[in-house]
Amino acid sequence: MLELDQLVMDFSGFRAVNGCSFKVEKGSITGLIGPNGAGKTTLFNLIAGALKPTSGCIRFLDQNVTGLSSDALFHRGLVRTFQIPHEFARLTTLENLMMVPPQQAGENLFANWLSWGKVKTGEALVEKKAWETLEFLELTHVANERAGNLSGGQKKLLELGRTMMTDAKLVLLDEPAAGVNRTLLRKLEEKIQILNRDRGYTFILIEHDMEMIEKLCHPVVCMAEGAVLIQGDFQTVRSDSRVLEAYLGE
Ligand code: ADP
Repeated sequence: MLELDQLVMDFSGFRAVNGCSFKVEKGSITGLIGPNGAGKTTLFNLIAGALKPTSGCIRFLDQNVTGLSSDALFHRGLVRTFQIPHEFARLTTLENLMMVPPQQAGENLFANWLSWGKVKTGEALVEKKAWETLEFLELTHVANERAGNLSGGQKKLLELGRTMMTDAKLVLLDEPAAGVNRTLLRKLEEKIQILNRDRGYTFILIEHDMEMIEKLCHPVVCMAEGAVLIQGDFQTVRSDSRVLEAYLGE
């Protein structure tokens, strides 16, 4: 689904990503780990189109997408969520879901609105999908709550819900466990697994919570100093002496 080939990213003389290559298989949940400063966030920015690589190539769904904007990638089904959820704090949870710009199947519907009647039909469909999403995430009880009042974990679920409104194919999750209490963390993990198993979502997630990585991710890619140190199943990666060294040197 995604292929990174010798990606390099320089920031005024500093090489944050240094010849990074790996593949992400369709239907997988790939865990991206590594010590602070390894280049994980920069790599996410490159994949999501927020940064253009200095050199190297990114292929998504068999097409060269190197240097495409995040907007163009979003329309192809590649969506990134953020470490700090970007909800519209004054809008309700339901409205937040309904604000997500449509793409893919929904796009034609929106592009073809010709009359007010069709606008209303389109709105009704979006609202129906938003309610289904809230039900899936078990957030219906906060549907009319302002999103700014949600807990950290509920905001992460909402962020996941916003990707569901777009029919994303590949979702980049940036530290989904950060700031989430244990109960909601289990729920978040369960929802990610269901989306992956039953709805065909492919995920890449950056995470420091090794329990979450162990539970969800195969394969695990460990980065250090801008490149891939090792990739494989969680146990293999965790027990590799180079990985231990990289974390000790943090
Ligand atoms: P990680 O997410 O693995 O902690 P980052 O991708 O955030 O790593 O950072 C990798 C390295 O690149 C760090 O040394 C960081 O200071 C540097 N870096 C990241 N963004 C910039 C930038 N915009 N300008 C200069 N250096 C940067």
